[in-house]
Amino acid sequence: MNWEAIAAPFQHAVVAPEGDLGECVFFAFQGDRLLVSMERQDHGGILPRARVFDEIGMPCRDPHYLGSHNGVHCFTIDIDDGAEPPAGMALHGLRMLYGSLDEPTFQLAGRAFQIVNWDRTHHFCGRCGTAADYHESDRARQCSSCGLLSFPRVSPAVIILIHRGDEFLLARNGRFPQGRYSIIAGFVEAGEALEEAVAREIHEEVGLEVTDITYHSSQPWPFPHSLMIGFTAAWQSGDIKVDGEEIVDADWFSADHLPESLPDGISISRRIIDDFLARHPA
Ligand SMILES: [Zn+2]
Repeated sequence: MNWEAIAAPFQHAVVAPEGDLGECVFFAFQGDRLLVSMERQDHGGILPRARVFDEIGMPCRDPHYLGSHNGVHCFTIDIDDGAEPPAGMALHGLRMLYGSLDEPTFQLAGRAFQIVNWDRTHHFCGRCGTAADYHESDRARQCSSCGLLSFPRVSPAVIILIHRGDEFLLARNGRFPQGRYSIIAGFVEAGEALEEAVAREIHEEVGLEVTDITYHSSQPWPFPHSLMIGFTAAWQSGDIKVDGEEIVDADWFSADHLPESLPDGISISRRIIDDFLARHPA
């Protein structure tokens, strides 16, 4: 079986099946870095495979079953801080691995990281401080005293391409690399509908009013636990006014007038931009 077979649509599960699982794939994290082989293995992937993670020779804890595809079972596991990778293996940040892992595997690595990261921060009940055990059937920890359940956190954020005819709006965040512009994004507030978040973020960041807010697509963004929900919206009224703090510049762009740098292909922002440009060529 090759790695591409594993990367095909994924069968999610929380509890590993009973019995011999054979050779499994491990998404093993130390901090925010993933353990990979320096070279592709016989099965075509760079992720470690073993019957049990102990065979790989790194001290670890808290394995979680992720699911399987075509009989290959996948786990995520937390490697002890400070442990050195064995010969031929290395630890790399997820963003660095974009392009080295195929898209579905990269997404799965993001899912694995979110689970490891959640588990690290929920060993104790947030209400009464008692140790929290794993729930027997759900991806959750449950307080052994008061019963409070803690699930992996997902933080929704909206990301919006505002269009006006053949033009679309790009903004420059003060933290972006030199010359980089992207579309508007921001976290959803508690109690807010997605459409409300879209209208609020646009108003706050560039001072515009929009209409025709339309869902585009979504992308889990595991840095560390966002879910990016992409929209398009039509400019309705207003002139661009940036806050000068988070957003330092914004303007209307088009296929024949683009900034020096756009977001990487890894991101939903780039996909939404490319989609708009394909529909509004120069
Ligand atoms: Zn409790």
